[in-house]
Amino acid sequence: MAGSSSILITGASKGIGAAVALRLAQSGYDIWLNYRSDHEAAGQVARQIEDLGRKCIVLPFDVADEEAMTGALVPLLAAETPYGLVHNAGIARDSLLAMMRREDWELVLNVHLTGFFLVSKLLIKPMISARRGRIVAIASTSGETGQAGQFNYSAAKGGMIAGAKSLAREVAKRNILVNVVSPGLIETEMIEKLPLDKMLAAVPLGRVGKPSEVAAAVNFLMSDEASYITGQVISVNGGLYI
Ligand code: NAP
Repeated sequence: MAGSSSILITGASKGIGAAVALRLAQSGYDIWLNYRSDHEAAGQVARQIEDLGRKCIVLPFDVADEEAMTGALVPLLAAETPYGLVHNAGIARDSLLAMMRREDWELVLNVHLTGFFLVSKLLIKPMISARRGRIVAIASTSGETGQAGQFNYSAAKGGMIAGAKSLAREVAKRNILVNVVSPGLIETEMIEKLPLDKMLAAVPLGRVGKPSEVAAAVNFLMSDEASYITGQVISVNGGLYI
C-alpha cells in the first residue's frame, strides 16, 4: 500500500460500493464513505470497517449537489489528501427513449456523469500537489455496448469511460492513475426488478456476479501492483461483453 491513507468511495452504503469499501479496508485503507440517504445501511458498513481496525468517516451527500459535496469534503481535504477515489454512486431510471422523461435523463446524467466530474475536480488538485493518487470510475457494460431501455444510463456510463480516459492522459505525469471498472450483472438492489432468467442467457459464465468480485478488481487497481495501468477499462461481467 502506497503511504497513508484514505480512499473516498461514493455510493458505499450498500451493493458494490459497500463491498469495495470493505475490501479496501481489508487492504489497510481508511475509508471516506459517501452515500445519499440510507443512514442505517451506511452505519452498518462503517461499523464493519471499524471492526477491521480502519477509520471510517461517514459522508452523506448527493454527488450531484456541488454545494453539499464541497461542504462535506473541503474541511476534510484541508487536513488530508485521500490516496484514492472510487466514483460508484449510481441509480437507474430505465425506459425506452420514446417514453423517457427529461427529468429521468437529467437525474441519471447528473448522478453518474456530473457527479464524476464534480468529485474528480475537487480531488484532482490536491492529488496533483501530492504527486500521487488513484481514481477508479465504476461504469457498466451498458456504457460499452449500449442497452435498450437505458439511453440515459448508457450515455452516462459511456461518458464516464471517455472522461476517465481523458483524465488519465491529463494527470499521468503527476503519478495519478485513472481507470474504469465496468461491471455486468451484479447481485445488488439495482437489478432486483430485472428479468434475470432471460438476461442470464447472454452471460457465458451463466450467473450474476457478486459485489465482492467487482471489489477485487477495484482493490487491484488501488494496489502497488497496478502501477503501470492507466486509462483502461477492466470489465467484470462474466463474459457478457467480450
Ligand atoms: P445500489 O445497490 O443501488 O447502491 C447504490 C449506492 O449509490 C447506494 O449507496 C446509494 O446511496 C448511492 N447513491 C445513489 N444515488 C446517489 C447520489 N446522488 N449521491 C450519493 N450516493 C448515491 O447499486 P449498485 O448495484 O451497487 O451500483 C453501484 C454502481 O455500480 C452504480 O454506479 C451502478 O450504475 C454500477 N453498476 C451496477 C451493476 C449491477 O448489476 N448492480 C452493473 C453495472 C454497473 P443510498 O442508498 O444511501 O441513497
